[in-house]
Amino acid sequence: VSGNKSDLGVVINEKDIEDFASDVNVLYFETSAKTGKNVNEMFRTVLRKSIKTKNSSKHTETENKPPTTTDSNGFMAGSIHEGPEFGIGDFVLLHDVTLEAFMDNLKLRYEKNRLYTYIGEVVVSVNPYKPVDIYNKNYVDEYKGREIYERPPHIFALADSAYKTMKRKSRDTCIVISGESGSGKTEASKIIMRYIAAVTNVGGQKEVERVKDVLIKSNVILEAFGNARTNRNDNSSRFGKYMDINFDFKGDPVGGHINNYLLEKSRVVHQQTGERNFHSFYQLIFGANDQKLSELKLTRDPKKYFYINQGGEPKCATINDREDYRSVMNAMKTMGFGFDQAEALWKILSAVLNLGNTSYEAVDDHDMAGISDKKLLSNIAHLLSVTPDELQKALCSRVIAAGGQVVEKGLTVSEAMYARDAYAKATYDRMFTWIVQRINEAIDPKASGMRLVGKNTVIGVLDIYGFEIFDNNSFEQFCINYCNEKLQQLFIELVLKQEQEEYMREGIEWIHIEYFNNKIICDLVEQAHKGVLAILDEACLSVGKVTDEMFLTAMSQKLAKHEHFTCRALQPADKTLEHKRDFRIKHYAGDVVYSVESFIDKNKDTLFQDWKRLLFNSKEQVLKEMFPEGKQHITETTKRPITAGTSFKNSIIALVDILACKEPHYVRCVKPNDLKSPSVFDQQRVKHQVLYLGLLENVRVRRAGFAYRAPYSRFLQRYKCLTSHTWPTFRGNEIDGVKTIIRTLNYENDVAYGKSKVFIRSPQTLFQLEEARDKML
Ligand code: ADP
Ligand code: MG
Repeated sequence: VSGNKSDLGVVINEKDIEDFASDVNVLYFETSAKTGKNVNEMFRTVLRKSIKTKNSSKHTETENKPPTTTDSNGFMAGSIHEGPEFGIGDFVLLHDVTLEAFMDNLKLRYEKNRLYTYIGEVVVSVNPYKPVDIYNKNYVDEYKGREIYERPPHIFALADSAYKTMKRKSRDTCIVISGESGSGKTEASKIIMRYIAAVTNVGGQKEVERVKDVLIKSNVILEAFGNARTNRNDNSSRFGKYMDINFDFKGDPVGGHINNYLLEKSRVVHQQTGERNFHSFYQLIFGANDQKLSELKLTRDPKKYFYINQGGEPKCATINDREDYRSVMNAMKTMGFGFDQAEALWKILSAVLNLGNTSYEAVDDHDMAGISDKKLLSNIAHLLSVTPDELQKALCSRVIAAGGQVVEKGLTVSEAMYARDAYAKATYDRMFTWIVQRINEAIDPKASGMRLVGKNTVIGVLDIYGFEIFDNNSFEQFCINYCNEKLQQLFIELVLKQEQEEYMREGIEWIHIEYFNNKIICDLVEQAHKGVLAILDEACLSVGKVTDEMFLTAMSQKLAKHEHFTCRALQPADKTLEHKRDFRIKHYAGDVVYSVESFIDKNKDTLFQDWKRLLFNSKEQVLKEMFPEGKQHITETTKRPITAGTSFKNSIIALVDILACKEPHYVRCVKPNDLKSPSVFDQQRVKHQVLYLGLLENVRVRRAGFAYRAPYSRFLQRYKCLTSHTWPTFRGNEIDGVKTIIRTLNYENDVAYGKSKVFIRSPQTLFQLEEARDKML
């Protein structure tokens, strides 16, 4: 039976045989196997019957069945060896690791509707831009509890592997999902969460069901306040998200925790043509009833509000804001948000919208700003639960303490306009963080009321912005790309560490692996005193007027010798760099030119104390909680506020620490085209992503040590037909069987024998084995 399963004439796989053998009679099974191809007829009938009943109870709708036909070799049904028409299921097995070969395979699989391909245990996913029916219950059943190589590549296999590791080894695991905007990261993270929800709580405990519901509904709220339509993606996440799901010793979810990173708050005050502000604004305008709108001092006309009318089209064809408003209200209820708290959030949104419509005019000869629309002012004051006087002061002046004296200083019209936008951005940003905190309270495992017995383990899911290279790259791209450098660095460390651990476990000598270590680029950004962020902070904190250009000059002096940094002053002949404006970093994923314009401003991220004090003193509890530093008196000396860059750096370093102690799994998402089309594979665009996601590098690292490894039993079973000593049966232990094959075929120099696995260094050996096997069968 183990020699040629297709002989049975039914679709079977190893798992079925294992299940069957343990169910029925293992001894009988072994005796039959000795006879090789001439399987005892009775056994054959029993087996066929058993599998038929099993399959028919499993699959009711045949059209939803995963591709589990036996291939022409009769080899494991639906294994990653899907047959040549689907390309190669694992890039590690490519004949030549070239960009062309990689692209050809990816394209072929995409055209055959195979969205997923492995690089070892990494899943590469291509966004189909159409509903694909491969996430239904039948698929869940097919992947549940299986080993990753038993089924065609699928994100379920990865989710299952993370879950199994967590459960079997009691180890924390994490899943890192990366890719550019619109490549399918957020969908992938939701698919993973739903898979985990589907395979847990077999006992049907009510409290666990509640926890699952709360975890999944948290997405609804986060997406409402943190996602927006962009030109790349109608539902683009504008923040990074890391979510831990906690499990009890039985493997059931008991709660979770979310960390959020760098919300794109500039969107609150400005959107490009074709884009929208965060969904929440439109949900409010289109979803709230008339009475509610008038209470909130709003009209149902989005065109009237400057903060949401800049993109042009307030409606989005793929989004139903009205319905989403109800889902958000519903989700807030499930999460245990108080009614007053939910009301407060909508009030704050309305305050921000109205704030965007305030205009300022010079009230005296010195161009000092004043607000003439007193009605608007009092509406906003009402929404923020402060007095119009207090609001007017905070918007049009600053209070500063100089030499023990408290002085009020008026703002000019342009300063007031600038302050207004800064206040709107800060208010929304803090509201988002406040919401994440409330969600965290709701999903806190300690709060779930479940008794946590034994060891509590987690699966972390990271859905974070991928590498960005735009025509014009600014501070935000710089931060995002730095974050990707850090994740790449972690990836290298962890993959190599994992390899090393496996070698040690297996008792195999450690082989040094050649790879590009991007630590040098991480240092370029984050190093104390001479890293880009340190130089930027120094510029921001020095007294007197410092310009972006001065910051560039400082970098060109301090980083002159760094091989990954350059600017026009260092390379006068390089016309691609604008003098006094651009600098270029050679990232692991490619070269990016950044413009220093507004770096200083964005890094300082100044928020005048006036606004914090105003809102801390609001009668609205939610606002008070959002601005706790507002309680500080003006004369109290404040520490220098931490800059945006340093704060981001700290949060990413903390994230890396969180990930580093977990067993990682990776999903690399690729976007096939910019048209959101389900049928276009844009070679140029995909090639670009394959390069900057470092996928080729990934294949190389994976192949650098041992390209292939397999437990002895598996290897023997697959290749026993290659020698007469081992075919049809090898009478000895499995290790000796494998050694006999390797020796007979003369591959000894390319192989290492571990405790439970055989390791093959070069992929060529594996190809030769496969080819020889094909010829035999
Ligand atoms: P990202 O988070 O990487 O920016 P999303 O996960 O929001 O991208 O995906 C963008 C859009 O692509 C989704 O709104 C959906 O229309 C489509 N999409 C992504 N993944 C899938 C999938 N697995 N199946 C079907 N459509 C998908
Ligand atoms: Mg997203």
